[in-house]
Amino acid sequence: MDEHQSQSNSYSSLRVELVYEDESGARLADGNAIFFWAKVLLPYFMGQFGSDAIRTDLRESAKTLEVILTGNPVPNAMMKGVGRNPQIRINLGLYVALLSMSNTMLFLREIAGQETVTRDALFNLKAPERLVDELLQLMILWHKSSQSGWTIQSWPQQLIIPDPNYIFPALFFVMAHEFSHYYRDIILNRDWVEERNRLAIKMIDDFLVEKEYISARGLDDEAVREVLKDTKAKASWGDEIGGDQWAFQACMERFSPSYGGPRIGMTGTAATPLVYEPRVQSDRESRMYANIAAELVFGITKFLEAFADKMMGKRGSLESHPPATWRQELFVYTMARTEKQPMMKFMGQEYGSGLMTRIVMDSMLKQFVDRMENTAKS
Ligand SMILES: [Zn+2]
Repeated sequence: MDEHQSQSNSYSSLRVELVYEDESGARLADGNAIFFWAKVLLPYFMGQFGSDAIRTDLRESAKTLEVILTGNPVPNAMMKGVGRNPQIRINLGLYVALLSMSNTMLFLREIAGQETVTRDALFNLKAPERLVDELLQLMILWHKSSQSGWTIQSWPQQLIIPDPNYIFPALFFVMAHEFSHYYRDIILNRDWVEERNRLAIKMIDDFLVEKEYISARGLDDEAVREVLKDTKAKASWGDEIGGDQWAFQACMERFSPSYGGPRIGMTGTAATPLVYEPRVQSDRESRMYANIAAELVFGITKFLEAFADKMMGKRGSLESHPPATWRQELFVYTMARTEKQPMMKFMGQEYGSGLMTRIVMDSMLKQFVDRMENTAKS
């Protein structure tokens, strides 16, 4: 098999094509070195969409999917060309953001490894200075990139490759979320899609009634309530939350001890010097990685929102996507409901490592904002 064939998988009815683009949008012949992680993670989806269960039920017009790995520095991913030319675009900026947070990953590993963390210790947890410094560095990178109109990729000066057991599930979570949009678009069984949407919308409605909880979490937001009066906006929020749930399940499966797919993405040769092998031992552990992955993604989104807000004075469109704080809450709420557990119990137990990640990242952001405001004052 030559290099090109190994990067696209063809089934009787679906073709997944992997394409690389540089920052300017020019297509590259080969971007393996920079996008090596995607090559490790993508076969899961190729396998999924190649399975009999799925390929019998796809819309004819959208059976060639391009997965485009772009050099774009914005830490983001999206599904484009719904209908005719479906594309999933995953920006390198996401990977760079994760690479910029090696201290954060180390810190998460330290506390995730502890047998028990008391409730008090958890809620009083303050992210160490070095984590806040790291966030500052990341914001500086984003600032540099945004100054160039987001055309130049800025890399952290000191690059320490953080633990792949944290980075890969987070990248995978994002890919899976985008695949969920694609899947929903091409599946012929519209009853299934409608039922899913109906359920998601019902859960959002149910959550909105939890007024005490919403206000205790500081989520009172007139703009959000206003937007959610619109059925179309609510349906898009439902899509996003559904996508996160799908991504979470896929993450659990892909990083489980029983997963039968390729374990080693790269061999130790000179051409491919990086070795990756998930060291997941138990289902409990795979849940831990999935929890952390979800919150790392939500946390980075929150950082990006803060960046857009503080540095550029912009707020993202509420019609299409929930803000990260709402996304986090709705995710946990719908997960707890799906697993038929009281929310608080779910948060403290099954989702404990996710909650911990959230507390650490919130603390980083809060300290960062305080620091900025103090600098501005003095
Ligand atoms: Zn989405």
